[in-house]
Amino acid sequence: MAPETALLWLRRDLRLHDNPALVAATAADRLLPVYVVDPRQYGVADFGGSDSFRFEKTGARRTTFRIEALADLRARLRSRGSDLVVRTGEPEVVLPDLVDRVDADAVHVHTRPTPEERAVEAWVEDALGGGPETPRIAGEAGGPPLVRHWGHTLYHPDDLPVDVADVADTYTPFRKRVESDATVRDPHPVPALPARPAVDPGTIPTAADLGIDAEPLDDRAVLDFEGGETSGLERVEEYVWETDSLRTYKGTRNGLLGPNFSSKLSPWLNEGCLSPRRVNEAVDRYEDRRVANDSTYWLRFELRWRDFFQFQFAKHGATAFTKGGIRRRDIDWVDDPAAFERWKRGRTGIPFVDANMRELNATGYMSNRGRQNAASFLANDLRIDWRKGAAYFETRLVDYEPASNYGNWAYIAGVGNDSRNRSFDVLGQAKRYDPDADYVTTWLPELDGLPPTAAHEPWRLSPEERATYGVELAVDYPRPMIDLTDA
Ligand SMILES: Cc1cc2nc3c(=O)[nH]c(=O)nc-3n(C[C@H](O)[C@H](O)[C@H](O)COP(=O)(O)OP(=O)(O)OC[C@H]3O[C@@H](n4cnc5c(N)ncnc54)[C@H](O)[C@@H]3O)c2cc1C
Repeated sequence: MAPETALLWLRRDLRLHDNPALVAATAADRLLPVYVVDPRQYGVADFGGSDSFRFEKTGARRTTFRIEALADLRARLRSRGSDLVVRTGEPEVVLPDLVDRVDADAVHVHTRPTPEERAVEAWVEDALGGGPETPRIAGEAGGPPLVRHWGHTLYHPDDLPVDVADVADTYTPFRKRVESDATVRDPHPVPALPARPAVDPGTIPTAADLGIDAEPLDDRAVLDFEGGETSGLERVEEYVWETDSLRTYKGTRNGLLGPNFSSKLSPWLNEGCLSPRRVNEAVDRYEDRRVANDSTYWLRFELRWRDFFQFQFAKHGATAFTKGGIRRRDIDWVDDPAAFERWKRGRTGIPFVDANMRELNATGYMSNRGRQNAASFLANDLRIDWRKGAAYFETRLVDYEPASNYGNWAYIAGVGNDSRNRSFDVLGQAKRYDPDADYVTTWLPELDGLPPTAAHEPWRLSPEERATYGVELAVDYPRPMIDLTDA
């Protein structure tokens, strides 16, 4: 009998540990791991019509992180006698060609619940001849099947207490159900890898090859996020064990400065360099060996939020990306490109919003507290279409994930999973979470030297005080674009 050959199509699952598609594919005699750099993921994308709605689909930070993750995965595969084959092109064109070349019997992939990812899967399936529409060669029964696996959430959809179509639309009932009636599967160990068919491995493109200008790291960045399974696993070690930060997560998670106020695992989770079940296993072990407390519970609580959005998008599909969201609300959003531009650039005149936007622009990261406030300011105070803000985050975030990003944005804009008003009191939040204005003055050095309250509201200073502190509004720092007490 001819040896069986499997092709593993890697996407945002760039790891060897707890990788269900890899485990399934290793049942074959020969295995070809492939990553396809899809040019549709780079360059300027049209998010919806007007010019202010056109941004790069993937910005410099995430591009660099992904390239590093590919290099790391290739090295890890090579050290186990395999390799990562890299091609640039549309997966529905590239993969059938490789399938023919190695005479593959099956293509294994991790599916995702979001429409763009689903669409590419369907095109590949059709091009392979396994889809419902088009046999690859007229008259033939069809090509090798596209075998879909699920590998990016804490809970497997088959283990949910209800069908995905019936999961609750609000977080608390979802969380309570999974906490009482679902278990998290053990992560898969790294499997032994079968031989690889002889195929030119190809070159991992550079950011410049993809038309992206790499950006130097700002020394104020919370962390130098380096892509790859190796650095993702190291970050778990560092956060959980070496710095013992997990012990105090619940109390520190609303922080704004420094590497350890929160786990910073999101970029690795979202490119698939880390499995959430692997993180959960580390929390289990920490609870056994050090302490089980409200902080260890809370890290899982946040990972369940991540799952919640995945299952919401599985349930609602493309509706979750529409202006009115899953609640189909009819809101008359303001179209104001100049105001949107000021928000993007961190020039609104509201220091807490501006500091967060400048951090995002300079580093690709923003804390959860910052995201909530920057998003609320755009959607609830300026009343600008929330999808523009979400699209801008999509470009800039190093940890962008479609369901987490659009789900959180919709939630804050009042078109998502909760009927309560999610508008944030931005000034109150600034004073509460940045009482000494350390965060604001880190990112807005022009306000350094002001007393903390004044750094959050420089417009309240008298002309004499401004002269004393050397801050002139509209010269050193913008006047506020709206009066937040009226908003
Ligand atoms: C407007 C807005 C946009 C967002 N966009 C994204 C995004 O594109 N990608 C993304 O991963 N997160 C997004 N979040 C959620 C959250 O802000 C980030 O996950 C978190 O800040 C990442 O830092 P961390 O890893 O240190 O988080 P930690 O506080 O350490 O949390 C641990 C993990 O739990 C998950 N998590 C925590 N909070 C949330 C949440 N609210 N929703 C979903 N998952 C969560 C993340 O995977 C995170 O890594 C967004 C939040 C808002 C308000």
